[in-house]
Amino acid sequence: MSFAISRVPAPKNEPVRSYAPGSAEIKSLISTYKKMWKEKVEIPMIIDGKEVKTDEKASLHSPQDHKHTLGFYYKGNKKHVDDAIKSCLKARKEWAELPWEQRASIFLKAADLLAGPYRDKINAATMIGQSKNVFQAEIDSACEAIDFLRFNVQFMTELYSEQPVSDAGIWNRAEYRPLEGFTYAITPFNFTAIALNLPTSMALMGNVVVWKPSATQIYSAKVIMDVLMEAGLPAGVINMVFSGGAETSQQILSHPDFAGIHFTGSTEVFQSLWRQIGENIHLYKTYPRIVGETGGKDFVVAHPSAIPSQVATALVRGAFEYQGQKCSAASRAYIPKSLWKEVKKIMGAQLAEIKMGSPEDPSNFVNAVIDKNSFDKCKGYIDRANKSKEAKVIFGGGCDAKKGWFVEPTVIETSNPHYESMEEEIFGPILTLYVYEDKDWKKTLQLVDETSPYALTGAIFAQDRYAINEATKALENAAGNFYINDKPTGAVVGQQPFGGARASGTNDKAGSKMNLLRWVSARSIKENFLSPTDYKYPFLG
Ligand code: NAD
Repeated sequence: MSFAISRVPAPKNEPVRSYAPGSAEIKSLISTYKKMWKEKVEIPMIIDGKEVKTDEKASLHSPQDHKHTLGFYYKGNKKHVDDAIKSCLKARKEWAELPWEQRASIFLKAADLLAGPYRDKINAATMIGQSKNVFQAEIDSACEAIDFLRFNVQFMTELYSEQPVSDAGIWNRAEYRPLEGFTYAITPFNFTAIALNLPTSMALMGNVVVWKPSATQIYSAKVIMDVLMEAGLPAGVINMVFSGGAETSQQILSHPDFAGIHFTGSTEVFQSLWRQIGENIHLYKTYPRIVGETGGKDFVVAHPSAIPSQVATALVRGAFEYQGQKCSAASRAYIPKSLWKEVKKIMGAQLAEIKMGSPEDPSNFVNAVIDKNSFDKCKGYIDRANKSKEAKVIFGGGCDAKKGWFVEPTVIETSNPHYESMEEEIFGPILTLYVYEDKDWKKTLQLVDETSPYALTGAIFAQDRYAINEATKALENAAGNFYINDKPTGAVVGQQPFGGARASGTNDKAGSKMNLLRWVSARSIKENFLSPTDYKYPFLG
């Protein structure tokens, strides 16, 4: 046996490819897209390293063409969840005891596979299955996913290096044990990188995982699992099941060996999961870790000293990239009256240029929303705004479901800062905007802080440094990710660790050491080199 204190390759953020028109990289990606579009996939669950097929098949469709069938996946039931738990518990000991360098190698290799041979495939899968344009797919399913893998390996070693001080004659050590039992990852549809990060961050720290992806992300989830298996992930470490969210959760959350949940999705679902864990608390062998990143009602507030073209651009990009289906998307804005005419003019000009359609045509900035539910929800808000006395649709508003779930980038102006779309998460390409009197700047900051139960992201635009300072303080608890003169979206792993507070989640900052800390249970070890041999302390004389 040889020994070493190894250093991992220093992580750097994966460079984002430009996909300029006519470039070799765009040609290669679009040709992969076209090839995958024609193929009919068959997606099994992966339990104990094996493909699991069932009698129940569900078809997969693309948001940009809901009549086109991409293939199907096999649905699971109670038995499969049970098998996945058993497979976790079988794999646990060997995986937990594997030296960390061996675990790290698997995830570093997965990062390299995604950066190289699988890059077009994961991007095309995300474009087809989740309707992201080339750039949105690249920053998510390639770059952010790769960053999560490489940075988490670095953070793991930093965490393991954190050791206590020792007095003379003793040696104190900290060991970071994987959680006792198995863990559970539930992932949302909107980021392929999140789907990859939630199960892999737990597995990296030595845990075994049941992973339930969203039904509308299964097409790219398969590519993630293919990559992990090619990278050498042993059987049973991550088990991917396609069973219903509510039933799967009920079964997992009542198991005595359940040790932690890593969730990203809506606030309502997270709260129902937490409630179940509370009710079952007496059943567990250990107190489970609960990590959840959930909804948002993210704001942009401009001060009268802001530059109108910067505000308008941040609103167009921040609200409408990926059709507003980012938890960080700007969905309410507060603009001073003195700037409004100019901001409106620039936004109008930019929105008039934006093309909407399939991601197969890279010139489309806006693509389809994820499914019929989302389409109907967006249309409902637009229809009600069209009828309301307090609101007016000033840009967009068109909805077309003939071929795909297309909703135009829509801006609603309201005279009521508490109008429904100023307060509720819509998760679509709808921005609501309130124009305030310049003299009401302070009152507006209070309004921003108190309008929504969420606190995920927010941005302030100003040139006046006193105003920046005032807003930074006044909005201290209104956002876990706060931006100054920048749009509230596009957090980068290692640069702006991501997560909100209040109703937006437990703020355990995905892609950071803080998050990995939740997936270990520390053991303090004290060794005494000169053990006492007399019970009497000096004060006894
Ligand atoms: P969702 O809550 O509908 O689904 C998330 C996951 O939970 C899916 O896998 C789904 O199948 C599962 N699920 C649904 N009902 C369930 C139940 N009763 N029990 C257990 N699991 C259940 O969310 P979504 O539509 O996939 O994603 C959008 C939501 O996610 C938005 O609210 C958005 O703000 C949030 N989100 C937050 C972050 C963040 O970092 N804060 C990131 C991405 C998305």
